[in-house]
Amino acid sequence: MTGLVRIDGSMGEGGGQVLRTALALSLTTRRPVEITRIRAGRQKPGLMRQHLTAVQAAAAVGSAHVKGAEIGSRELRFEPGALRHGSFDFSVGTAGSTTLVLQTILPALVLAGGPSTVRLRGGTHNPMAPPFDFLEKAFLPLVGRMGATVDAVLVQPGFYPAGGGECIVTVTPAARLRPLVLLERGEVKRRAARAVVSKLSREIATRELAVVSRLLGWEAERLEAVSVDSSGPGNVVTLEIESAGLTEVFTGFGEKGISAEAVAEKVAREARDYLASGVPVGEHLADQLLLPMALAGSGAFRTTPLSRHATTNIEVIRAFLPVRFDVEADEKGNCVVRFSG
Ligand code: ATP
Repeated sequence: MTGLVRIDGSMGEGGGQVLRTALALSLTTRRPVEITRIRAGRQKPGLMRQHLTAVQAAAAVGSAHVKGAEIGSRELRFEPGALRHGSFDFSVGTAGSTTLVLQTILPALVLAGGPSTVRLRGGTHNPMAPPFDFLEKAFLPLVGRMGATVDAVLVQPGFYPAGGGECIVTVTPAARLRPLVLLERGEVKRRAARAVVSKLSREIATRELAVVSRLLGWEAERLEAVSVDSSGPGNVVTLEIESAGLTEVFTGFGEKGISAEAVAEKVAREARDYLASGVPVGEHLADQLLLPMALAGSGAFRTTPLSRHATTNIEVIRAFLPVRFDVEADEKGNCVVRFSG
């Protein structure tokens, strides 16, 4: 397939993911893209700071010619040139998510002609985005199994609203991505919970871990309370489940007006539902594996019912790639997603 791809940004879930997936695919397929009605489904439509940084990052990696790269813009034309690799430095400028900026350029960097180092500044642990620990422990090891080596180092955590976080990602590309098959989770080998606070009482973290211990029955030596010094206050609870087949990470975000117990209870229930479902791939990982797996051209994974976010992602991928997705659901709604070229 060649030529301009037209994407209606209001399709499906109508959020920032349509933009990021379209830019990632424009870079990897080298096809120009025109996106209209960007984030039409959101309260404040158009490009926000984090989306604009993603556009600028994609333009730098793809030597692209871009029209409409402004805050609030609802239309974008993106024409990629030569793919670049090397050193990059992107700052979101607010607490906007660094990992979502990375999501936009990583597929191109893992298929680039040489290694890259990317310094990203902004938020590293944002609600509604892949938290750094998820990226490091769940997502990147799977990209590694597909043939590219991607290492991420957290220099400084950044929480909403102060930001000020930093991570450095090094990429050793693969000539092509190998197919991945994730149908079985296998035996659970390790479980660990980490409650992190910045500029807040450590007691918040210990209260969260008490809830995790009560609801999941994880042993005390698997629970860790940590104080970090970020630019502003922040609190996250990270639950890591390492199985024979892969590692999954679930995250709860502390919020003003929400008790530590409620934050921990929500994420503990998420982990408990994942363990009970028997599937290897959780909701967010499913969403984020779609693009690399489609680029590999074949492979499969088993997951919980696909979110609207994931089905929207499939629609955008179909506009660029001739890949076939077969989704087969069982009586509980869990499904196997298969990719074929
Ligand atoms: P908007 O729709 O306002 O533009 P956005 O650009 O911030 O929002 P979404 O379209 O909501 O983003 O996409 C969020 C991304 O973050 C998705 O890739 C989703 O899988 C991922 N994500 C969200 N929460 C988590 C989480 N707890 N763990 C891992 N990944 C997450």
